[in-house]
Amino acid sequence: MKGTHVSSGMELITLGTAAGPAIRGPEGGIASAVVIGDVFYLVDFGLGVTRAAHAAGLRGNRFRAGFLSHLHSDHIGELPGFLLWNWGPPVDGFTEPVTLIGPGADPGRGHGGCGLAGTRQLVAGLLDAFSYDLHIREADEARPSMADLLRVEELTPDRIADAEAQPFPVYEDDRVRVTAVLVDHPPVFPAFGFRFDSDHGSITFSGDTAESVALSRLAVGTDILVHEAVNLGFYAAAGFDAAFVNHQRISHTTPAGAGRVAEAAGAKQLVLSHLAGVAEPDYWETEAAGTFSGSVQVARSGDRFPVRDSRSAAIGPV
Ligand SMILES: [Zn+2]
Repeated sequence: MKGTHVSSGMELITLGTAAGPAIRGPEGGIASAVVIGDVFYLVDFGLGVTRAAHAAGLRGNRFRAGFLSHLHSDHIGELPGFLLWNWGPPVDGFTEPVTLIGPGADPGRGHGGCGLAGTRQLVAGLLDAFSYDLHIREADEARPSMADLLRVEELTPDRIADAEAQPFPVYEDDRVRVTAVLVDHPPVFPAFGFRFDSDHGSITFSGDTAESVALSRLAVGTDILVHEAVNLGFYAAAGFDAAFVNHQRISHTTPAGAGRVAEAAGAKQLVLSHLAGVAEPDYWETEAAGTFSGSVQVARSGDRFPVRDSRSAAIGPV
C-alpha cells in the first residue's frame, strides 16, 4: 500500500479543475475525488485524471464508484484510461465490481431528432473498442473480466423545468449516500449535480450548469459546494464566435452566480472548479466573495479540502 492515501474522515481532492475540451493552462481537466476513510469515489473523468488520481495516492483497489455529471467529452474523455490503468491485481487495481452512474440516452429533442448515446452505450463502446487488450490481459495476466466488474446505472429523469427539479437518491453503500438533481446545461440533457453525504459531512458538486435553483436545493446546508464558473469576459474579449459566447452564457455560471447559489443553499464553503476561460488570479474569488458570505477557495489540481467533522468538534474539549 506504499504511496496510497487514506483519509481520517471525508475529503475532497480536486484532481483537475479546468473546463474544456481546451487546454489554456497547466491545470488538469475536470475530475474530483471524494475520499472517505480508505475508499474513494470519482466525479467526472477529465483529461489527466488517471495520473492525478495516482499522484494523490488513489489506487483502483479502493475505488467504489464513478459519477458522470453529463457526457461532454471534457468530463468523460479519460474514463477509458482510468479504468484500464486501475484494473486488476498487477496495478493494485479493482478486482471487485465498481459502479458507474451517468446520464441515460438523450431522447434527441433539440438535436435534429437523432437520439444520442447514454452511459450504457458509452461503456459498451469502450469495452468493444478495447476488446483486444481486455481479452489478452484476461487470458494472459489472469485479470478479472472488466465487463463483469463494471456495473452501469443510467439516470433517466423526465424532462422537467430546472426550477421544478427535486433531488433524488442514486447510490448508497456503507460509507455514503449520493443524491442527484437535474441541472440546467442546455443543449445537453440530462445533466446532473451530485451530493455525497457521509457520517463526516457532505460535499456537493454542481456539474456543468447555468445558475440553478435546483442545485441550491440539493446543496442545502452542505459542508463544501464544488461549483463551476465561467469568465464570460474572456470569451467576448478574445473574439470567440457569438454563438459560442452565448452557449457559455446560457449553460454555465459566473463566479458571482456560483456565490449566489452557495448563499441560497447556506453552504459552509464554496470551492470553484471547472474554471472556463482565463482570468486574473484574484478574479474568481473576488467575484464569488461578493455574493457569498462563507469561505471561497479557487481549486487547483491536486488540492485537498477536508470536511470539518462538526460532530467530532462538538464533542471535543471545551
Ligand atoms: Zn458541459
